[in-house]
Amino acid sequence: MSTSTDDGHPRGRALWERARQVIPGGVNSATRLIGRPYAFTRAEGAYLWDADGNRYVDYHAAFGAILLGHRDPAVDAAAAAATAQIDLVGLGVTEHEVRMAETLREVLPSAEMTISCMSGSEATAQAARLARGVTGRRYLVKVQGGFHGWHDPFARNVISPPERAYRLDPLSSGILPDSLSGTLIAEYNDLESVETFFHAFPEQIAAIIVEPIPHNVGALLPEPGYLEGLRAITEREGAVLIFDEVITGFRHALGGYQQIAGVTPDLTTFGKAMANGYPVAGLGGSRALMENFSSAGGSVLLAGTYNGHPVGAAAALATIDRLRDTDHYPRVRRLGDLMRAGLAEVISELGIPAQVVGEGSVFVVYFVPEPVRGYRDLLGNDDDAYREFHRRMTDSGFLMLPMSLKRNHISGAHTEDDVTRTIDAARTVLTDMC
Ligand code: PLP
Repeated sequence: MSTSTDDGHPRGRALWERARQVIPGGVNSATRLIGRPYAFTRAEGAYLWDADGNRYVDYHAAFGAILLGHRDPAVDAAAAAATAQIDLVGLGVTEHEVRMAETLREVLPSAEMTISCMSGSEATAQAARLARGVTGRRYLVKVQGGFHGWHDPFARNVISPPERAYRLDPLSSGILPDSLSGTLIAEYNDLESVETFFHAFPEQIAAIIVEPIPHNVGALLPEPGYLEGLRAITEREGAVLIFDEVITGFRHALGGYQQIAGVTPDLTTFGKAMANGYPVAGLGGSRALMENFSSAGGSVLLAGTYNGHPVGAAAALATIDRLRDTDHYPRVRRLGDLMRAGLAEVISELGIPAQVVGEGSVFVVYFVPEPVRGYRDLLGNDDDAYREFHRRMTDSGFLMLPMSLKRNHISGAHTEDDVTRTIDAARTVLTDMC
């Protein structure tokens, strides 16, 4: 991390210095302190303003939680209306959470029933426990590069350096080895790597969890037959297929990436974009699976003070309404296509060994010479160039997280003009970097 004291952001630095006295590292999540310390004071639509008055076109989008643009008026109004009516109760049920579950069942047919919580990590923790509880099996399979939250079984093998990829690579100290050893690491887009585990551990694998597009390492796209293959293998083996749609859900289609792929998982986790930045997440699946939670008399504990919070539910309902009633998806896809084509043209003009990839509103520039299939191909990514590109774009007013392999998001508030200016800035930055 570079924290030069003369970075031209005196107010932001002063706030961060105060923060460091009372918050470890001055930030509430380790991935928020990458590059220089940032402090923001205002957000609106496609833009953020920092404490020193600089405006940024925001492609970070709070790791993808901002889908429609910052402070979408309809979503904010729905949250305010809920607040004016009710707050947290903690007994029984509120109308907002029922309406949210009913609406989720309409837009995401695999989610016949849902539970709602506050964060994606809670949703994936519940999914893992439910899969293990229902099958009585030990192992969970994830892919190298997939991220499913910060809790013990999944906190391993995300952006691993080459020497630790596919080997035990915990994200944290303090995790019991036993907890990590229950999670096996496969390769994305490689069904054979999954089959190997089912041969090695017959009737011991509870679930496969996968981001249908592993956006935590940019945007690996599923090859034809891959997601279908995971479906077939899990069905054959009596294991649970979990699609972690915490990023892809609501971002790529109202019915998640599963709607685009035409593959139906047993369980789906969602969060982030579903409420345009309000804290709500959830887990959905068939009635047969979901009624194993203790709330329905099953053996899998379901608890959480803030679960089903009416304000988050109201924000999610308003977000879904906006997605249903507008041309959001074709519009952001068109802007995404424009961005990807523009960046690819710049890269080709300059002869840079890089690949522009993405899906819909998401775009990524990998600094690798050859097209990327799986994580293995990312081991050759020029990390320094990747981070430098993002850092320089951010310094030019286009906020792209200067962290290895992070994706960029176009929201419903970005315009064609924003995209054109971004491509022009990228041309200047990449020319300078050559
Ligand atoms: N699953 C995926 C695919 C994610 O990208 C994330 C967070 O980035 C999580 C789960 C965890 O979500 P949260 O940060 O809300 O706990």
